[in-house]
Amino acid sequence: MPYKERVRRQYTINGVVQGVGYRPFVFRLATELALSGWVRNNPSGVVIEVEGSLLNIENFENCHLHNIPPNAMVDLFKVKELPLQNDHAFKIIESDPKTASLVSIPPDRAVCFECLIEMNDPANRRFRYPFINCSHCGPRFTIITGLPYDRPQTTMAQFELCNTCGDEYKDPLDRRFHAQTLACAECGPHLELWDCKKRLLASHDDALKQAVEAVKKGGILALKGLGGFHLIADASNEKAVETLRQRKHRPRKPFALMMVSLEEAINHCEISEPEAVLLQSPQAPIVLMHKKNNSGLTEAVAPGNPYLGVMLPCTPLHHLLLQELTTPIIATSGNRSNEPICIDEHEALECLFGIADVFLVHNRPIKHRADDSIVRVMSGANSILRCGRGYAPLSFSLNQEQAVGSRKSALAVGGHLKNTVALAIENKLILSPYIGDLNSVQACDVHEGLINNLSDFYKVKPDIIARDKHPDYASTRFAELTDKTIIPVQHHYAHALSCLLDNTIEPPALAVVWDGNGYGDDGTVWGGEFLSISKDRYERVFSLRPFPMPGGDAAAKNPALAAFGLLHEAGIQGYSGFSHEEQTLLQQALKKNINCPLTSSMGRLFDAVASLAGLTEENSFEGEAAMALEFAAGQTAESYPFELVERIVDWAPMLHGILWDLDNNTATSIIAGKFHNTLAAIIVSIAERAGQQQVLLTGGCFQNKLLLESAVEKLIAAGFEPFWHHRIPTNDGGIAVGQIMAALKVKQFGKQ
Ligand code: ZN
Ligand code: ZN
Ligand code: FE
Repeated sequence: MPYKERVRRQYTINGVVQGVGYRPFVFRLATELALSGWVRNNPSGVVIEVEGSLLNIENFENCHLHNIPPNAMVDLFKVKELPLQNDHAFKIIESDPKTASLVSIPPDRAVCFECLIEMNDPANRRFRYPFINCSHCGPRFTIITGLPYDRPQTTMAQFELCNTCGDEYKDPLDRRFHAQTLACAECGPHLELWDCKKRLLASHDDALKQAVEAVKKGGILALKGLGGFHLIADASNEKAVETLRQRKHRPRKPFALMMVSLEEAINHCEISEPEAVLLQSPQAPIVLMHKKNNSGLTEAVAPGNPYLGVMLPCTPLHHLLLQELTTPIIATSGNRSNEPICIDEHEALECLFGIADVFLVHNRPIKHRADDSIVRVMSGANSILRCGRGYAPLSFSLNQEQAVGSRKSALAVGGHLKNTVALAIENKLILSPYIGDLNSVQACDVHEGLINNLSDFYKVKPDIIARDKHPDYASTRFAELTDKTIIPVQHHYAHALSCLLDNTIEPPALAVVWDGNGYGDDGTVWGGEFLSISKDRYERVFSLRPFPMPGGDAAAKNPALAAFGLLHEAGIQGYSGFSHEEQTLLQQALKKNINCPLTSSMGRLFDAVASLAGLTEENSFEGEAAMALEFAAGQTAESYPFELVERIVDWAPMLHGILWDLDNNTATSIIAGKFHNTLAAIIVSIAERAGQQQVLLTGGCFQNKLLLESAVEKLIAAGFEPFWHHRIPTNDGGIAVGQIMAALKVKQFGKQ
């Protein structure tokens, strides 16, 4: 066909293509190539029709695929030939808000480099404007009220564009062409500084300057950010950090830090290449990195922890704040312990009363909560430990076999701790942002609200609901109150399936699922499991030798109770972690089996060993004792003996080894190192017995970098293919994904 001949083609593009400047990009390209036609958002992405010479159309196709906007991701690019229409111009057609949408909800983006330059340029009309953004950056998910993504369906709808902003919006050559969230000081949101009685202290730039002064003086600032409030304090001021710990009732759990730049972060942390990339990414997550010895920050930031959780400023407002401060700041979630992050300034006054001294707020409403995401680089790859701002909502494409039947949908309500929910519609699976532990009425309300919001976004009413097998989880009770078909899913099976999806692999596989606890098929508490995963089912092939947990759930808070139970099971009476009277009571409880449930939990084994090694007295937050054991571990090639008897991993030989080492004053670092080596050796020996090539490492215990990396290394050396988590959290934040995948395997559902 001659290149001059006129043709018309239609392109259907799916993926992350809304809210990322896709239509303006197509408009510019088509106009430059003198093509006519149109582009518009459709329920599952973008549709384009172009007409012009074959040469120009082929150029359009090539340039298109090589230059898609930086935050876009194309899953599907379909081309169709059409009859000519002989139109003359190229236009952007507005979306039809009534059509149901299957498009990915765009996540929030940190402020881009070009916007930052403008914000710091005194000659620019947005100089020091804390809400500057463009087609490539700024809030998205957290302000979206409906799909498709257009300004009227965001919380920016209430701000009418001024003439200058309106011109930018309409000018195809402008960076803000069709930027749905654009604003300026004249027409957009503004700052206010309030005291804790809601008295206005200052507004606009003065509010920011006074907030800076408050932090400099050691005060605690509540700042309304992108996905919720941050509590901010000067990280070099020990008294300020201690005050924040007291007021938040958070004795030791590490605080996240925000630093002005990568250079500043390098002053405090050892930063690898992938960590530097993550820090500067548009997701701007908290990255867990090794602290430098001379970091100069107060120990109160992360007591006893060799790692720091650091992020760079994600919004222009955070940039302005940090530019005026000379030190890194604590930037922790603005909530009361056990409650979800606050998003509304009026609500914050109440829930952060007595914690924050002043409140830096603004009038751009936050529609959806998104906590800061947390990422750790392990075995050279990113692992998202908390999926929030920048990543959420995460979407995955399901293959034909996995997909829900057409026009059907499934919901998963998640677990209990670190809860998230998930929704599957046709061939799409969406994981919600992190909600938190469902321990409070507030958290349960947020859980329910998020489920409703996600269902509304996609205009679906889920046909089935997947839940954890645990009968008493708040998420279970929520599911049971609906009139839907409920599918209970075993906790550790859900972990395994989420790991499969994360790695886009198919069974068969051996899943090593280690965590704190999950309701087992036999009604006991599981957590040290080896599951053989086949296409439609799982089998528990090995598990940790069960031991009693005196006090039941209390053992999760008190590692000495786990140690007492472990020793008891091994026939060793008494433990110096308790007084004589306490020991008598515990012995009686164990003898009469009063509130001493059996567990095969690896998390509790970590607790017990940390307690025996004298590393910890209390879990003031989930995983504290296990972290202490990870951090204590030193280099050693040695390990402890263990036994595999029938389907049980017997830890008793290891326990005796640890007690012998303790009696002989072996260094704690060696004991902790040998313990980790033993666990990796157990994984390899069971992999050898199970004979599966693919080995999944999943569950909260694999947030432990040392454990994960040594297991990966030893599995590879033994000829296995290990898989672990990258996008879906390995902890209970990933459970919802596995629940859905299990529910979709239920045959009668969805497929005709
Ligand atoms: Zn920008
Ligand atoms: Zn304006
Ligand atoms: Fe779990």
